[in-house]
Amino acid sequence: MKATVLKNCRLIREVSGNVPFTFADVAFTGGKITVIEPAGKYLPAPGDQTVDCTGKTLLPGLYDIHQHSDAISVNFLDNRKILDPYDFLNQVCLWSMRMLRMGYTSLRCMGAQNLAGIRLRKMVDAGVFNGPRVFACGNTIAGTTKQVIGENPGCDGPAEWMKAARTAIANDADFIKIYASGSVMANFGEPGQMVVTPEEIAAAVQAASARGVYAAAHAHSTESIQACLDAGVRTIEHATWLTRDQCHAIKDAGDRHFIVPTLSVMQWCASIAETDNPELYYLADRAAKVMDSAKESIARAYDEGLLLGWGTDLDVESLEKEPGQEFRLRREWCGMSGTDMIRQATMNSAYIVGLGDVSGQIKPGYEADLLLYDGNPDEDISLFNTRPIVYKRGRLVDETFPVKK
Ligand SMILES: [Zn+2]
Repeated sequence: MKATVLKNCRLIREVSGNVPFTFADVAFTGGKITVIEPAGKYLPAPGDQTVDCTGKTLLPGLYDIHQHSDAISVNFLDNRKILDPYDFLNQVCLWSMRMLRMGYTSLRCMGAQNLAGIRLRKMVDAGVFNGPRVFACGNTIAGTTKQVIGENPGCDGPAEWMKAARTAIANDADFIKIYASGSVMANFGEPGQMVVTPEEIAAAVQAASARGVYAAAHAHSTESIQACLDAGVRTIEHATWLTRDQCHAIKDAGDRHFIVPTLSVMQWCASIAETDNPELYYLADRAAKVMDSAKESIARAYDEGLLLGWGTDLDVESLEKEPGQEFRLRREWCGMSGTDMIRQATMNSAYIVGLGDVSGQIKPGYEADLLLYDGNPDEDISLFNTRPIVYKRGRLVDETFPVKK
């Protein structure tokens, strides 16, 4: 089979199997990486396609493991106005391609209207188009409350939480998503308030784990994070009031729990009053309540050496304005290094979603989800605001893909 050979590309060793050289020829075929050799060593076979990558850095495709497939507009209320299901699905497919063009070859949908994430995943898996890999939760699970914006009617009591978890799995969810605390987005109560009982969380997690499915939880407060850790929730999203003791407990538990920070959406909420969406201006006050704690908690988790995932929780329009903003914010607010952030956005997130041995690194046998950036993005993270060349499973993603103006 003919291979594509990327000649003389620069590697970041930490996400390239710690290869003992920096400049390499990387070949892939059949959607998988086949050969990595020091630059100049690889002899292409007749018919191979070679690409001169001098001056470019090769990265594994990025993961955004806190996204929403219906986050198509800067005003999340807009997408609720799309009534025609086909118009809606078109927008969801375009959303995924716009994310892919920014280098996000894998996305985890944390809840969207009409099971949009699951429907999108099925289309990509069926080969309808060469979109990003999608993981989806289907219906989110929350109690009866005005404090979260979920897609599910309220579930009350352990039996209803168990039923909702089983319903999500019956809808072909990859994982379940629960709301343990109030949210910033809903204009009621405090984001940190517990909106569920530990027994309800435990019932949903048990029902899921019995089917081999893990749980992800929206959790801001210390109390809600603790209830999730106690119940065996795998990914804690946002984690605004994560304590040092909880960091230690997560480390001691080994591979059981992971934190997925979402700094971009915090910044978005804080700056919403600068936009022309007055119906969302309340978010600035809501964000002010969580902002300082979020910065401290995530800096603490980084300082403690926890394995962090990569989430933005941001709509695609806002992300297109500054694709590298999660990198900028983790640097400015939490002092993270470029290489560490690249690990978070690639191999760490692949590991968290269970694909660490096939995706998220540049290694022979790994999937050829690859990005080429001009320059050295590990040293200059502003390069994440430029558009990379994107290969998804070894296929070049159309660079001229129309991005909404
Ligand atoms: Zn979210």
